[in-house]
Amino acid sequence: MKLDLLGNRQRTHYCGELRKAHAGQPVFVCGWVARRRDLGNLIFLDLRDHTGVTQVVCRPEVSGEAHDKAEEARAEYVIGVEGEVVLRAPETVNPQLSTGEVEVVARTLLVLNEAKTPPFPIDDDLRTTEETRLRYRYLDLRRGRMQHHLRLRHAASLAVREHLSAHGFVEIETPFMTRSTPEGARDYLVPSRIYPGRFYALPQSPQLFKQILMIGGFDRYFQIVRCFRDEDFRADRQAEFTQVDVEMAFPQREVLFGIIEELMVKLFALIEVKVERPLPLLAYDAAMEKYGSDKPHLGFDLAWKRVSLPERAREQIHVAEPLKALRVPGWATASRSQLDKLQEHAKQSGADWFSYAKVTASEVQSPLVKIIGDEPIRAVAGAVNAVPGDLIVMLGLKSASSARLETLPLQRVRQLDEASGEVRLDVARKLDLIKPGTWNFVWVVDFPMFGYDEKEKRFDAMHHPFTSPCDEDLQKLESDPASVKARAYDLVLNGSEIGGGSIRIHRQDVQKRIFNIIGLTEEKARERFGFFLDALEYGTPPHGGIALGYDRIVQLMAGESNIREVIAFPKTASGADLMCDAPSTVEAGQLEELGLRIAPQPNKSVECGG
Ligand code: ASP
Repeated sequence: MKLDLLGNRQRTHYCGELRKAHAGQPVFVCGWVARRRDLGNLIFLDLRDHTGVTQVVCRPEVSGEAHDKAEEARAEYVIGVEGEVVLRAPETVNPQLSTGEVEVVARTLLVLNEAKTPPFPIDDDLRTTEETRLRYRYLDLRRGRMQHHLRLRHAASLAVREHLSAHGFVEIETPFMTRSTPEGARDYLVPSRIYPGRFYALPQSPQLFKQILMIGGFDRYFQIVRCFRDEDFRADRQAEFTQVDVEMAFPQREVLFGIIEELMVKLFALIEVKVERPLPLLAYDAAMEKYGSDKPHLGFDLAWKRVSLPERAREQIHVAEPLKALRVPGWATASRSQLDKLQEHAKQSGADWFSYAKVTASEVQSPLVKIIGDEPIRAVAGAVNAVPGDLIVMLGLKSASSARLETLPLQRVRQLDEASGEVRLDVARKLDLIKPGTWNFVWVVDFPMFGYDEKEKRFDAMHHPFTSPCDEDLQKLESDPASVKARAYDLVLNGSEIGGGSIRIHRQDVQKRIFNIIGLTEEKARERFGFFLDALEYGTPPHGGIALGYDRIVQLMAGESNIREVIAFPKTASGADLMCDAPSTVEAGQLEELGLRIAPQPNKSVECGG
């Protein structure tokens, strides 16, 4: 088909703008053909741009040429229409459409470009695979929903910049091609041509740079920044993702919390959600005991309690101390098969002992009664404040066979906690307790400084190794590392971690002690972060900050369950860019220039994955 030129025609209105008040006006509207209905003497084109749809009418008696061209136009052709806005006859008004009271009668129709038949209709009610959507992302992006999400993201970015700037934070870019940073994931590496055999690492976060900016006197810094982590993909992670990265000098935790909370208020106002401040604080230990998670969903009122059974009872059922009990209000009606499934889930989650009790007005019913009698179960029911009609779920870990009265060490308590967290969510899902449209923020604080790495048989920093221990725990750093608390915090929303940070170590002596405890020799530390350790020696102010998981926040605001929905060009769960077909092989010459050789690889094509 012969294409027309746009020439110097200027769009007068967007498609979604036309209203009754425009009737009688000449307009020039442009966009894509969303739909064509050919009634012979009358052709209707729905013309779409990012603002909406307008109906164009082509009548031969107004313009034979426009009518002829409309006959040839197909879905996704790019057209421009010069014509007049007219009121629709009352019976043809479309109340579903914001422009439904008017239409544009075409005097001139320009076909500016043709389009192949798209592999899926550009429609919000989409029934195609994600793989196809990602392969043809440019078509997917035309859909109203993607337009909405990316524009929401833009509005959120503006709010971030405005808010943080107003609080004296300065946006400063930090390098993408740098050295390994301390977040503990695998690095993406970029080979250097000029220094063969050497590599830049893409930053896992700007952590060290933002700390150095504090040393450099910037006082308050932020950046909306891409971070790169080469992790084994979990369904809802991206190899490159965006953080709102924040750091301030001379920080008081409450001041930082206030600034971030105000930001949440502003962000959620964009979706008309009112965030009530101050946000609640929850200590890590309490989070693990009650909710079995350091990112608990607080949108429903189910909380575990650690309980104990009399020694005799524990001997009879071979379960280690402590056990955990959860009161599920009103669920004494749970069926056998529901309880079996719950038990199955508990076992998969790592708790190998499961039981339950149903509380009635006169008794407790439980398979345990015939083994340990009803007294101990009544005691558990009392401990969790159960009332008639409630179900009590009990979880535990079996005693090691040699230890009939075992008390769980910390690691195993955590294992039980984590299983209890899974079971709690499972119960909430089964009983439909997680209500859409509720927003439960919580700061999780008082994290342990160290976790114990069973494989390596040593302590490891639970956040990153630049996180400060609590001042009052400094004296027991070496003597009792497991009990040391960190000045770290996470921000959690509806069971997702949306941010994390800490007050940092600003003293060389403390930094050295931490490296020591996590088994990082001076030599190794110098090799990895020598530049940073040097910087610490030149007058480092106390400082601290946070990084917000920006993709996740926008995803939650957009009401989506996957971060790929709020990223223009995401990678699949297995790290592939299906549109660009990346990662890809490169020319042998390029490798040679870089001094690289690739060992023979099994042929693996780029795929969508999980
Ligand atoms: N850099 C840290 C992270 O990416 C956040 C922080 O401590 O500010 O998790």
